[in-house]
Amino acid sequence: MKLSEAQEQVDKWIKTYGVRYFSELTNMAILTEEVGELARLMARKFGDQSFKSNEANANMADEMADVLWVLICLANQTGVDLEKAFAKNMAKKTKRDAERHINNNKLKK
Ligand SMILES: [Mg+2]
Repeated sequence: MKLSEAQEQVDKWIKTYGVRYFSELTNMAILTEEVGELARLMARKFGDQSFKSNEANANMADEMADVLWVLICLANQTGVDLEKAFAKNMAKKTKRDAERHINNNKLKK
């Protein structure tokens, strides 16, 4: 699925089931909340924390999708074309960091 298609799909869902978008600030708070849920899960899966017994079904992919969903909502309601923005951002990173990481001795074993 292209990012533009994901933006259209989310917009259609919001208009069909969501009544309207939450305000930008509400969605920003929800984005932070969802990133926190992903962080909590990763701290337990890859970090030093352990899962509580009721967290056994925690799903990293689902949490990432939650983050993406709210980010797409924010893009839709603020007029950001994520496909264009991502392509532009990739070009920026590639130009800026073409040799930066390759020459970073800290990244070599
Ligand atoms: Mg979540």
